[in-house]
Amino acid sequence: MKIILIFNFLALVLLFFFGKLELISLVILCISNSALLYFASKIKDQKIKRKKNTEDLNVINSSKVFTAEDLENQLINQIEDYILFINSFNTISAANQAAKSYYGDVIGKDLSSFIRAPDLLDKIENSRNRRINEYLEFEINLPTYSFFRLTIVPLSQKNVLLVVKDYTDFKKSEKLRSDFVANVSHELKTPLVSIKGFLETISSSAKDDPVAQQKFIKIMQEQADKMEILISDLMSLSRIEMQEHVQPNSKVNINEIFESLERMPNKLAEKKCLDIKIVKNDTIPLVRGDYDKISEVVQNLYDNAIKYTKDHSAVELFLHKNEDKLLKGSVSIHVKDQGIGIPKDEIHRVTERFFRTANAKKNLIQGTGLGLAIVKHIINQHRGDLEINSRLNEGTEFIVHLPIYEKKD
Ligand code: ADP
Repeated sequence: MKIILIFNFLALVLLFFFGKLELISLVILCISNSALLYFASKIKDQKIKRKKNTEDLNVINSSKVFTAEDLENQLINQIEDYILFINSFNTISAANQAAKSYYGDVIGKDLSSFIRAPDLLDKIENSRNRRINEYLEFEINLPTYSFFRLTIVPLSQKNVLLVVKDYTDFKKSEKLRSDFVANVSHELKTPLVSIKGFLETISSSAKDDPVAQQKFIKIMQEQADKMEILISDLMSLSRIEMQEHVQPNSKVNINEIFESLERMPNKLAEKKCLDIKIVKNDTIPLVRGDYDKISEVVQNLYDNAIKYTKDHSAVELFLHKNEDKLLKGSVSIHVKDQGIGIPKDEIHRVTERFFRTANAKKNLIQGTGLGLAIVKHIINQHRGDLEINSRLNEGTEFIVHLPIYEKKD
């Protein structure tokens, strides 16, 4: 700074005493003044920065001190389990945020009006008297099924702490798994028992009856086919479940899938004298996905439509590009039949594994109950959607919405 001021002074002296050196003096004056302005702005910035730091420090100093108690409160409120403090009269004296959100306004209220579990009060009493942790499991069925595990921790002066853990999801998946094993065993055992029975008949009472033998061999063949379909459906389902989180990323032309369906003769459709209409649409954009998997979806829905439609009726397949706001950016595959239909209250269940409508069973239509579960998983993997519209004894329409292939940014 000092040097700049000296230059400034020098320039002024030159200008004053040696008028002829005006230009040089002016240049020196300009340069030194610009430097002066630059350094002045730097000093101002630094001052502002210093002031801000001091202000921040003041804010920190003036803010409330974060005590251990605050920390504990914060920690307890971050816990997802429901935590309740119960006093010696079994009244709730405090609760964490999770408990308040689940049970509502609980403070000052009687515990038994919130948790109705047999043995709860006895266990609390035991925990108080013996000063030990007690454990309890209970479930509620209304408004929906829930399952809880509860720990009772004794505190001072007959107070106790209740920690309620929600195990509903775990219980549900456990039940799903055991139902699944039971279903698979049942579905495989039925044809197996039948095959064993016929084998025994062929080797004993029908030993010398070639006509009966041929008949039984045909039935055994059908049962073995049934087992094969079931096993292949199960393998397909487990494969797709494992890959569900990875969205397939190829360009798929649904028209090509329709073409391959058209080329394949369908014995059942011929037997039922069906009018099959597969309508391609060249204006439909490509979708994002996996060709084989989308083929599996279309094939499954097509086979079902043929299976469940009435004799001499029509099955239609067509494509549609969605223009409405909600579904924009998707292509719909429609599969429509004029069959037995699905009761309204069962529509939401048909994609569950092994679920078969009473209507289908009554009409003795064979199936594994796994096809639509596979369809649903594949559509989920494609980030698509499945819509089902049905009228009992009039027909059903399955609509698959799949995302259009667009370049990602
Ligand atoms: P399935 O092998 O029994 O056909 P799916 O998983 O494909 O198994 O279908 C599950 C159930 O949904 C069927 O058992 C049937 O009750 C019902 N369903 C599926 N598609 C149709 C349809 N097009 N019309 C009427 N009911 C259907």
